[in-house]
Amino acid sequence: MIEKIKKSGYPLEIEISGLLDKEYTVFNTKYYFDKEGKQGRDIDIHAMPLKDYGYEDLKPLHLRIDIAIECKKSETHAWVFFTRPNKFLDALDFSGQYKTSVPRVSTDSFERLIRKCLKPHYRKFERIAIAYDEIKKEKDSSSRRDIFEAVHQLLKFTCYEIHESFIRRSKLTDLPLGHELIFVFFPILVFDGDMFEVTFDSGKPRLNRRNHILVSTRYRCPYCQEVRSFIVDVVHRSYFSEFMKILDTDYYEMMKNILKNRYGLMKEAKETRIKFLEKSVRFSVEK
Ligand SMILES: [Zn+2]
Repeated sequence: MIEKIKKSGYPLEIEISGLLDKEYTVFNTKYYFDKEGKQGRDIDIHAMPLKDYGYEDLKPLHLRIDIAIECKKSETHAWVFFTRPNKFLDALDFSGQYKTSVPRVSTDSFERLIRKCLKPHYRKFERIAIAYDEIKKEKDSSSRRDIFEAVHQLLKFTCYEIHESFIRRSKLTDLPLGHELIFVFFPILVFDGDMFEVTFDSGKPRLNRRNHILVSTRYRCPYCQEVRSFIVDVVHRSYFSEFMKILDTDYYEMMKNILKNRYGLMKEAKETRIKFLEKSVRFSVEK
């Protein structure tokens, strides 16, 4: 009985939630609707930082940061990730993980400015995984698709929560003048098991044990139908406390950058909204 409990992912979810409790509001097995699969599902952990990073000073701009976590454990399979140098990929592109209330216009300088402000830890990685596999340690164990499943659960939840929040926001009638929401999301996969990075040295595979790997992926959001880029942090259970410090630095940096560019962002938001209105008026006249 105890052995069976140990093997399921549940205690890991409890352990990680416990670590988060001090600094986050934590929701466990949070419901969401999987629009693609047309069914209700749940995500292991959905959390929001409690600490005030100076949100008051940003007004009328509002920064919201959420994290979503899936927990997996495996004794029978090792997780391996195939990486590429970061410089060949646009690691700064995580466009699916943030959304602002300012409409996106093609020649949009608000978008450009906010991108400069949102610079998470991703850019500090020299390599980023573009493929992965689950390797059997014992001959008779069956093949698994835990990584694929978990990554897609995280992407689905991210899209769901971002879009739902903006729908809820659009129903609010008492928003202060110039209020703009900047919503950033971090999808995280916590793993308890053997985790490796695979690189190729003149054709020969080289295996290195890792406790933190980035997985870059693209996904078509079922809500806005746009294909967007996402980066999932794969974090080993033993490294999670350290990883929380990395996130903390991210929040602080993003906050600081937005504060520094507060007037510029407010001005660009206003101008972008005017451009957007002109465009839609012109479009409806041409129609
Ligand atoms: Zn979308």
